[in-house]
Amino acid sequence: MVQKTTELYRGKAKTVYNTTDDNLLILHFRNDTSAFDGERIEQLDRKGMINNKFNYFIMQKLEQAGIATQVEALLADDEVLVKKLAMIPVECVVRNYAAGSLVRRLGITEGLALTPATFELFLKDDALHDPMVNESLAETFGWATAPQLAEMKRITFKANEILQALFDDAGMLLVDFKLEFGVFNGAVVLGDEFSPDGCRLWDKVTRKKLDKDRFRQGLGGVVEAYEEVANRLGVKLD
Ligand code: ADP
Ligand code: UDP
Repeated sequence: MVQKTTELYRGKAKTVYNTTDDNLLILHFRNDTSAFDGERIEQLDRKGMINNKFNYFIMQKLEQAGIATQVEALLADDEVLVKKLAMIPVECVVRNYAAGSLVRRLGITEGLALTPATFELFLKDDALHDPMVNESLAETFGWATAPQLAEMKRITFKANEILQALFDDAGMLLVDFKLEFGVFNGAVVLGDEFSPDGCRLWDKVTRKKLDKDRFRQGLGGVVEAYEEVANRLGVKLD
């Protein structure tokens, strides 16, 4: 049985632990919820457990559809065993409907359907407020190689297809989401997490927001919304 050893990194929402196996890490999902590059942080009861179980459920769905993910095993309510990836510091964002920074940047109406879905890259750097970058910059500065970038884009669009259908069946619109990748034995593997902290989900009929925008915009009922999303998908929480 793999055991937790030392703390490797404490992020805004998760703590990463080394284990007795050099190739594996444990991700501990905390209740901390941050917005605006960590400027606002609050504790939301049950959020760590919900996001951990939700993330495990989604990663399993993606794995079953042929996407290589980090996930090895669900260890506890708020812990998952994952492959230790050499993380690529570039976030991949796909959008099916306009929201968030796209609306602010381009003055587009929130909710506009985007056809085809858009693909953006952001540098993972809180101090610089995660600036938008592109393939050329990523290659030049050595954040990722051209083949890695092509693979990240291919996997992100494939995940979009799988997850759009999954959420649609559960009465939700997958508005946008962010994925992070890393390298394991030379291959690009999906890492980090997929949860309502890193995507936008709206009710299909009412367009009620069921994701982290409830926290960012002070709408309340954050954990209740995350729980509703999990329940609608059939994620076992308790
Ligand atoms: P942040 O770094 O944005 O504050 P988190 O609190 O989610 O984010 O911290 C988790 C950290 O662990 C992130 O830096 C993420 O890139 C990293 N990470 C996620 N999955 C893996 C993995 N499988 N292997 C190595 N590092 C990972
Ligand atoms: N996102 C994320 N982490 C980030 C930036 C964005 O998980 O550091 C997610 C965010 O939750 C949304 C999508 O990526 O689902 C697109 O975010 P956007 O560019 O609209 O930025 P935001 O409005 O969140 O600043």
